[in-house]
Amino acid sequence: MAKEESISTAAGCACFRYLDNEEAYHDLDAGGAVEHLRAAIRCETVNTDPEKTDFSQFDKLHELMRSSYPHVMETGTFEIIQHSVLITIPGSDPALKPLLLMAHQDVVPVVAGTEDSWEHPPFEATLDETFIWGRGSMDIKLMVIGELEAAEYVLAHGKQLQRTLYLAFGEDEETFGTGAKAIVKTLADRGVRLEFLLDESVTVVRDMGLYGAPGTLGIEVELAEKGDTAVKVTVRSEGGHASNPFGGTSLGILSQAISSIVAQPFPIELSPVTEQLLRTLAPYITESPWKE
Ligand SMILES: [Zn+2]
Repeated sequence: MAKEESISTAAGCACFRYLDNEEAYHDLDAGGAVEHLRAAIRCETVNTDPEKTDFSQFDKLHELMRSSYPHVMETGTFEIIQHSVLITIPGSDPALKPLLLMAHQDVVPVVAGTEDSWEHPPFEATLDETFIWGRGSMDIKLMVIGELEAAEYVLAHGKQLQRTLYLAFGEDEETFGTGAKAIVKTLADRGVRLEFLLDESVTVVRDMGLYGAPGTLGIEVELAEKGDTAVKVTVRSEGGHASNPFGGTSLGILSQAISSIVAQPFPIELSPVTEQLLRTLAPYITESPWKE
């Protein structure tokens, strides 16, 4: 986890454009969006231990959403589930399955003792010429605010969505994920079946030098994720004395078991998703991604 976070503002760097069609949104209130994100960062929504969490910071964030996005609030329904948020904006065509855009409200805590090494305080949302600095600027209040800004923009321009849109913002993505589960249960109880959903991923445009294509800017849309498995190995053996090792201790047997597991990694394979990524990047790859 990055010690510091900052996100560059579109307004702060005229030389850099994120989208090919930015000029199509010339009346987008970029300054207003920046201030909304800054206000969201100032809500200290750290939630690592629900017993000690100050949920009034979440209430503050909810109030910010209610007061900043009038068209979303007027057209949609705003629900609090535990401390998570579910916004439903009805589409014009009920035959179409809904779309869900996710993000999360919680941020990871500031590691105690590192306060002095922050260039800008984590919850002040300092704005300089280029960046908004603060916890959650990249992980991931920019997505919470970005999704709300996009929905507000569309609705404020008198457009109605064809497909029902859900915006779902969990409260404890960094820890237990109970908020996401509660939202899923709510939707399942209502019989909702989604067409698709979009969640947090890599959210920055970055140099593709990682893939051997330095100088090419790209953004990774993540369509797959590695899973993980936890294995618990228990060994029980008779107690005894070091003078009579009787064929090994439980610690030795356990070590051998762990060693055999480690000795059998999954075979290396190129998944279709990774292969397609490399094919797409191939024209731009100019050097080996592996350093000699
Ligand atoms: Zn995140």
